[in-house]
Order: sequence, then structure tokens, then C-alpha cells
Amino acid sequence: MNCPCCSGNLYENCCKPFHSVEQHAPTAEALMRSRFSAFAIPNGEYLMETTLPAKRKFHNKKDLQEWGEINEWTKLEILKSTLNQVEFKAYYNDENGKPQIHHEHSLFENVNGRWYYVSGKFID
Ligand SMILES: [Zn+2]
Repeated sequence: MNCPCCSGNLYENCCKPFHSVEQHAPTAEALMRSRFSAFAIPNGEYLMETTLPAKRKFHNKKDLQEWGEINEWTKLEILKSTLNQVEFKAYYNDENGKPQIHHEHSLFENVNGRWYYVSGKFID
């Protein structure tokens, strides 16, 4: 199958190695893409594990899993990415089938060679 992150690559050659923890995402953008895919799959555990340990208390694996499940994730658009910041739009259809866009500016941090999601600022 094509990778849900819209890279144009097969899932096996794109986000799957990160989801199965064979590899770690090499850049903040790669981590962000793999987190979008993890909502589409969904894989709440991966979303939790790629959150900075100090920030995990603000999230809940079950909620992440459910948020992935109830929505249909249709498209990811990366607007801007730097070493540790990514601005993106995630397109999805909500539980009523209504198209929605989640526009976020996310911050990432590298700890011992691994990238983690720190926090996001939602943009209207
Ligand atoms: Zn991917």
C-alpha cells in the first residue's frame, strides 16, 4: 500500500520501519510524517513513544488511538520544515464525514540521536 504520509512511496519503504521500531526517524520531518501515518493506521503506541518522555503526561494512548480511528486521514501537506520544527496541514474527514484541516506548527527535540515530538501550536 502507498504510505499514508503521502510521500509517494510504499508504506514498507517509508513509515513502516519506524512504526515497527526497526529504525528511528532520521529527521524531525520524517518523524512528523510517521506520526501522521500512525494516526491513519492507527498506532497509538507509536504516537505515545515518539512524544518526548517529559510531555507524555499530557497525552493518553487510548485517546490518540481513538482520534486516529474515528477520523479518516486523507492527506498530509508539509508547509515548512527546519531542523526541529515542522509546519503542516493534516486533512481528514471527521466522524460525520465532514472534511477538516488540522494546521499545526510542531516542535521536535533530539535526545540521544532520537527525535521526539515536544508540542504543537494550532493555527486557525
Ligand atoms: Zn510515510
